[in-house]
Amino acid sequence: MTPPLPRVTYSNIADDFSAVHAHLDALLPAVRANLLGQTRPNLIAGREDEDGVRYTASSPINRDWPLGSFFAASSGAVDRAVAAAGAAYPDWSRRPWAERVAALRRAADRIESQKYEIACACLFEVGKSRMEAVGEVEEAIDLIRYYCDEMAANGGYDRPMRRAFAQEATRCVLRPHGVFAVIAPFNFPVALSVAMMSGALLGGNTVVYKPSPMAGLSGRLIVDAFVAAGLPPGAVNLVCGGGEVGQTLGDHPAIAGIAFTGSHAVGMEILRRMAARTYARPVIAEMGGKNPAYVTANADLDAASAGVMRSAFGLSGQKCSAGSTVFVHDAVADDFLARLVDKTTALKVGDPQAPDVFVGPVINRAAADRFERAADSVRQQGRFAAGGEILTGGVYDKGYYVAPAIVADLPADHDLHKEELFLPLLTVRRFGDLAAAIRDGNDVRYGLTAGIYTRDEGELRQFLDTAEAGVLYANRASGATTGAWPGIQTFCGWKGSGVTAKGGLGPWYVPQFMREQSHTVMG
Ligand code: NAD
Repeated sequence: MTPPLPRVTYSNIADDFSAVHAHLDALLPAVRANLLGQTRPNLIAGREDEDGVRYTASSPINRDWPLGSFFAASSGAVDRAVAAAGAAYPDWSRRPWAERVAALRRAADRIESQKYEIACACLFEVGKSRMEAVGEVEEAIDLIRYYCDEMAANGGYDRPMRRAFAQEATRCVLRPHGVFAVIAPFNFPVALSVAMMSGALLGGNTVVYKPSPMAGLSGRLIVDAFVAAGLPPGAVNLVCGGGEVGQTLGDHPAIAGIAFTGSHAVGMEILRRMAARTYARPVIAEMGGKNPAYVTANADLDAASAGVMRSAFGLSGQKCSAGSTVFVHDAVADDFLARLVDKTTALKVGDPQAPDVFVGPVINRAAADRFERAADSVRQQGRFAAGGEILTGGVYDKGYYVAPAIVADLPADHDLHKEELFLPLLTVRRFGDLAAAIRDGNDVRYGLTAGIYTRDEGELRQFLDTAEAGVLYANRASGATTGAWPGIQTFCGWKGSGVTAKGGLGPWYVPQFMREQSHTVMG
């Protein structure tokens, strides 16, 4: 039985969690011994399925630690998974919404009962710090409960409309689509998978879920939790594998909708392929970000340097909301940069099993290579104010570790100011005029999050009125652009960061998985 421990969220990560750490000290070795390295088949109609190419995923912390063996589902296996979800659909979709809510609440309870085990799996799988890993599972639990609350607060999205005649009654009802493909990224493998799956299921759809090829372990643990919570066999099916399996699933003719979270390039590809069909199904795509922070002459520089550092380097910069460019007013630029460099060079980079490690590895060789290419470009056209090296020696030789990088003096039109790198690399730009800085910050294809540090009401208003992003923060030391939480900050990607103009974590998420139907009945 897990002792009652304080809840870890992204904004209280700096609190004293010594009791949680003591629990993890004991649990991490047990999880490594018992959960890692096993064969984890796919799950189709409640049965394990090994039809596909077997592959082994290893931990980014240490390549010698296998996370497990998984199966890149064959096209036949994808067919069977879609058919299983189709067979489960009539029963699941016709259940009263309150029954679906009850089942999802049981799934949340189930995940809560395994919260620390799943968090440890996530730590090994993604290389997350302890607190980021526990925070993520806590978020997943809150997400399910919040979406259940929304479903209930809206009476299952079935409401009476006005009457044209006294004898005629009309209702507006939101109804499910059918089988949803759920395709998830590697960086929040638990929270985002659970969010997309619970949105689809609450709406009355059934699911074929493909986690990131790096995240089959947490993927299987989550699906097991849903099944153990009593969801009918076939309501949630798991197929592992990479982009090819994702494409086979997304293209499947019997798929009624796709929920995707991942990169802009893949999201846009999924949309283009959907547009080529005889009729389009909903694609709920949440994509990348290039998230600016602004530090004005009226900022609290302690809060600003702490918040920018945390947003840029938490989870090794691999958050869609990571702050990857900071605009600093000329008057405070030197002071701010000195504080930021101090805080960044004090960060411990290493094996995140250690409680004091803030920056774990990056996800894989490709990410480390991308960092190296970006660093070469910085050396040619700008300079590093901190970090920028691939780390070597000891544990660093076993995984993929880089020194969090602060980059100054790059030309204004450099790609690193504009494109998502998804790594711990922050560019610094100076400004004299806030309006021009916000215009520059907006001048990217993305629009996910943005943050400002100012004690001036007018500057704050200007930012809130003109920043082109779905999630805005001001003066947060816990994160300039990061740290959204279910039911508190809605998380909507504007521009190239999303497609539906409605986000996760908020009241409009679940209805996206349903379609409107009007019922007019003469009495
Ligand atoms: P990715 O786009 O490489 O992969 C995401 C998923 O898509 C994986 O499961 C992958 O196997 C699958 N996939 C790849 N090619 C496919 C194809 N052609 N058809 C169908 N599926 C395909 O992303 P990633 O590297 O796993 O995750 C990082 C990205 O996700 C970043 O861009 C990040 O900003 C974004 N992200 C966005 C949010 C958000 O809420 N907006 C949240 C987290 C991550």
